[in-house]
Amino acid sequence: MFTDYFKGFEKVEAVKGIFAEKTEETLHKLKIEFIWFGYMGVDNTDGHLLVNSRYLRNGDKTDIYLDVVHELCHVKQWIDGRELFDSRYEYVDRPTEIEAYRYTVQEAKRLGLNNERILLYLKTDWMSEEDLNRLVRNMQIDLK
Ligand SMILES: [Zn+2]
Repeated sequence: MFTDYFKGFEKVEAVKGIFAEKTEETLHKLKIEFIWFGYMGVDNTDGHLLVNSRYLRNGDKTDIYLDVVHELCHVKQWIDGRELFDSRYEYVDRPTEIEAYRYTVQEAKRLGLNNERILLYLKTDWMSEEDLNRLVRNMQIDLK
C-alpha cells in the first residue's frame, strides 16, 4: 500500500490540493507496485502507482517527492476518467502531462527551488533539450 512506504502525504498541502476531502481515503486505497526500470508511473488499468525500488532507495529525495506529487496528479486524472496515455499527443504536449508538471513545478517553487534546479529536475535522461523547452513553454511558467 502507498501509505506503507510514503508517510504523512495525506497531510501535505500539495496533495490535499489534488484530492481535497478525498485525500485520506484515496491514499489509503492506493496500491504501489515495484518495478525495475524508469522512475515512477501510474498503471492505466486500475490507477495504481508504479515505483522503481532502486530509484526510491538511491534517488534524490526532493526529486522523489516531486515525482510523487506529479504521479498523484495522474492518479486523480485516472480517477476522473481521463486518458493518461493519449497517443495523439507527444509526451511533452499531452494535456495530462502538462497539468501534472505545472502543478509539480509550482510546488517546487513553493519549496524554494530555483529555476536552474527545477530545470534540472525536469530534464530526464530520455528528454531532449528541445522537448524540455517545449514542455516549459506548454506549462506557461517562466523558468528562465
Ligand atoms: Zn506524468
